[in-house]
Amino acid sequence: MPLITCYECGRENVSDNEAKCPGCGENPLPPSLVKAGYDYALYANENAGLVKCIGFYADGTVIAQTISGRFSLELFARITKWFNKGHEAVSKGQYSHNVKTDNVCFSTVSESGTVDYSGIINPDGTIMLDIYSHIVKKKTPGVIYRFAGYVKNGQLEAGK
Ligand SMILES: [Zn+2]
Repeated sequence: MPLITCYECGRENVSDNEAKCPGCGENPLPPSLVKAGYDYALYANENAGLVKCIGFYADGTVIAQTISGRFSLELFARITKWFNKGHEAVSKGQYSHNVKTDNVCFSTVSESGTVDYSGIINPDGTIMLDIYSHIVKKKTPGVIYRFAGYVKNGQLEAGK
């Protein structure tokens, strides 16, 4: 069982099995949006015939992908190949999630450019993000992403 440095208070040699750090009483692991045992959590926004998808991985990686259509398992089957951290063409970055304020923030980068996201996890589990695309120089505030499910080995387990 590896010993880690507490993410909250910096105390060293805390067991990663510990639910609470003996120093500060908080979870010593960095916050993740993914349930243990899954590869990533998928969130989706549907608007005007487009589905914007964001996958949040346990290691802090985030991948964003937009596809036309309506969200369904068939559509997910068409995009699942893009949710691959090793894929060079996908728009990806690293997210931070502040568990105290539930703020989420990240930038995704692809060949076309950078997109900045910053927002909050709502009590109902949706994520509201202000999006700024450096590609088209456009700000889109208050985009609501609903939780679509957890994914393991390319299989979507539909969400709440
Ligand atoms: Zn601590």
